[in-house]
Amino acid sequence: PSFKELGLIDSLVEACTTLGYTAPTPIQVESIPIALKGRDVIGLAETGSGKTAAFALPILQALMDKPQAFFGLVLAPTRELAYQISQSFELLGSTINVRCCTLVGGMDMVPQSIALGKKPHIIVATPGRLLDHLENTKGFSLRALRYLVMDEADRLLDLDFGPILDKILKVIPRERRTLLFSATLSSKVESLQRASLQDPLRVSV
Ligand code: AMP
Repeated sequence: PSFKELGLIDSLVEACTTLGYTAPTPIQVESIPIALKGRDVIGLAETGSGKTAAFALPILQALMDKPQAFFGLVLAPTRELAYQISQSFELLGSTINVRCCTLVGGMDMVPQSIALGKKPHIIVATPGRLLDHLENTKGFSLRALRYLVMDEADRLLDLDFGPILDKILKVIPRERRTLLFSATLSSKVESLQRASLQDPLRVSV
C-alpha cells in the first residue's frame, strides 16, 4: 500500500515524499492504520525499521484534527535518540508547522523551561529530565496530553527508568492513547504494557 492508502492526509503524504520515503516500511504498514483508528499499539520493531515515522505520522494527523499545546509526549532512553525523534517530528510535521521541544539530561534546564513556555505541540524527552521539569518548571503540566509514546521500552526498563515512568504515568491523563515500541517483549515490558496501555493491538515485523 501507499502512505495515502494507509489513511494519511495529503500534507503528511507530501512530507513523506519530500523526505524520499517512496513507500511505507512494514512496521508503518502495520501500525499506522491502527493508530489512526485511535487504538493503543504495541510495536515490536528494531531501530532502522522506520518505527519513528510509524508513531509520528498518526500523532501528527491527530494533532491536525485538534491542534493544542502538549498534545504528544515521546519518552526515549537516550539523549541521542530523543534528538533524532524530535528531528523526525519536525521534518514530517514541517508542512503543518508543528512545534517540538526536546528535554534531555545533561543540558541546562533554563532554555528547556523557556522552550516549554512556548507551548510546543510535541515533547520528546528522557524520563528523568521530564520528571524534573514536571516537578520544578512553574506552569508546566501534562494535563492536556493526548498521546504518549514509550520508544525502545526494553531499553527504558534496562536503564532502570521504571520507577520514573510510574511517576510520570500518575500525572498524565488516563484518557489518552498510548503507543509502546520495543525490540523485545520481556516480562518487564509486558508489565509496563499492562500498566499503561488499554486494549492494545500488537504488531510486529
Ligand atoms: P527509524 O527506525 O525510525 O530509526 O528509521 C530508520 C531510517 O529509515 C531513518 O533514517 C528514516 O528517515 C528512514 N525511513 C523511515 N521510514 C521510511 C520509509 N518509508 N522509506 C524510506 N526510509 C524511511
